[in-house]
Amino acid sequence: MLYRVMDKRELPKLVRAFMESYEVVAPVKRGNGYVFDRIDSPEEIELGYTQTASSPKKYFMPPVETMMKFDTEMNLVSDYVEEVTPRVVFGVHTCDISALNRLDVALLGGKYVDPYFKARRDATLVVGISCKPNDNCFCHLWGADEAPFGYDLFLHDIGEKYLVSMSNVVATNILEASCELAEASDEDRNAYRHATRERQRAFNPEIPHIQDVAMLMDVFHEDPFWEELGGRCLSCSACASVCPTCFCFDIRDVLEPDGMSGRRERTWDACTSPGFAAVTGGHNFRPTGCDRVRHRMYHKLNGFMVNHDRMLCVGCGRCVAACKTNINPIEVLRFFKRKGADDAE
Ligand code: SF4
Ligand code: SF4
Repeated sequence: MLYRVMDKRELPKLVRAFMESYEVVAPVKRGNGYVFDRIDSPEEIELGYTQTASSPKKYFMPPVETMMKFDTEMNLVSDYVEEVTPRVVFGVHTCDISALNRLDVALLGGKYVDPYFKARRDATLVVGISCKPNDNCFCHLWGADEAPFGYDLFLHDIGEKYLVSMSNVVATNILEASCELAEASDEDRNAYRHATRERQRAFNPEIPHIQDVAMLMDVFHEDPFWEELGGRCLSCSACASVCPTCFCFDIRDVLEPDGMSGRRERTWDACTSPGFAAVTGGHNFRPTGCDRVRHRMYHKLNGFMVNHDRMLCVGCGRCVAACKTNINPIEVLRFFKRKGADDAE
């Protein structure tokens, strides 16, 4: 990994250089919050944001995506029809980079690679930025407050400058051609260590740091807690929509009025939807809110871990803000604490 130091005043030059060859999306202010959106000038970027309402996942797996078109009369099926835009996702926090790494495992790491996700991942550069946690953030509990890989450039804020980690040749060439860079000095390295310690101290101490969460999910699988938690679920799917690691989708064929041609779409789906586990014949494997919410938490905090050695939750805290009935992983950690589980803090 290469490191260089860049004065913060150089940043607009880097963004403009990216804009010459890529669409650039970045955190921008919308109403009272922040979202990732396409920018037309570097001045729109708000790098001081704490959390965007939803994650950059939509640029790698859109909420609705046409997979192919078909014409039964002509006996024709098209290839993948959507244009994949060369893009830079600028200003991504470590939790969202960690989430992309998990999507890579799920969608690219198995026997069957997801070609739609791969096409967008390959066409996208990711530029990370260090962050300050808000009260809902708990990425440090799952080790997602550091992103050792999964980005092309990472800007560590060290005051008036950025310590830039460079892990991709294309992005590095654009950086070096557009900005004045310097070798990192001892003072810069100390500033980096100081900023890292400050960030670690800023996490909400009220969120319990429970050990062995995956094991506890098994131990308390039948506890009445899940009835209470799941009974509150409105099946609104907000949690899955904002979650950077939820990747479940549905596939449907949409017919044109002629009934002969149409398109095959995939759309985001959510395991908290009542019909998610319903099958032909009318049986539903998870008919109650309890079944669905427990399954969701189980996949995040146990199931993915068993198969891939890491949580599927990166502690971004978005579902904490999005769920109107306060169903989120922090509530599960608090339940374990009430049950007497060890709190590492
Ligand atoms: S489950 Fe919640 S906190 Fe965890 S990654 Fe998803 S939205 Fe973020
Ligand atoms: S857990 Fe909360 S956000 Fe998710 S579907 Fe249920 S009510 Fe909606």
